[in-house]
Amino acid sequence: MKVLVIFSGGLDSSVCLAKAIKEYGKKNVIALSFDYGQKNSKELLKAKELCKYYNVEQICMNIKELFKYSSSSMLKSSNVELPKISYQEQLKNNIKEVSTNIAFRNGILLSIATSIAISKKIDKIYYGIHNEGIATTLYPDCCENFNLAMNLAIYIGSGNKVKVEAPLVNMLKAEVIKLRIELDVPFEKTWTCYENKKKPCQRCTACRDRIEGFKKNNLIDPLLK
Ligand SMILES: [Zn+2]
Repeated sequence: MKVLVIFSGGLDSSVCLAKAIKEYGKKNVIALSFDYGQKNSKELLKAKELCKYYNVEQICMNIKELFKYSSSSMLKSSNVELPKISYQEQLKNNIKEVSTNIAFRNGILLSIATSIAISKKIDKIYYGIHNEGIATTLYPDCCENFNLAMNLAIYIGSGNKVKVEAPLVNMLKAEVIKLRIELDVPFEKTWTCYENKKKPCQRCTACRDRIEGFKKNNLIDPLLK
């Protein structure tokens, strides 16, 4: 069994990578990272470091061109500012769409991963979406139904060869962080912040979500120590 892990260098996909290595052994795991023009390109450096740490093969792919029509605040090409409030606050403000969403990003990343998996005879794809109860409304391509539909499409479209798994899909951020003890993930080597500073900004939506997850586990994020 070989596994391809869609790997951003963030906390969730790092847990997925560690899980795949634990289950199938590092020789059977390949990490797939994308430069899609994200502002937080620091995560790509972290992704590289983590692949070295785990001694797993990494494929890096540049797909900036794909999102050139998107105005998502996540992209370098966008002049929309990144939000500085939590998801909960955004929902309270009745926001129907978040500026950090990138149109069908997970659908695209999974499709590319499937083509690579078929060519390299890889049986399974892992990706780190998780549903905090907010994903379905704010990130439509992060929910369980999306995962089920993509899994079916990919299984059929690959000639019954490739399956997709989202091992964290029903977990809360705090539960993902809890897995760290079992999987021994070096969270100090991961990067979640939307900015590229030396330390996490602690203000952006991604930082707030991460800090909250550590707090619920009575832990301090090692990046903030
Ligand atoms: Zn931040």
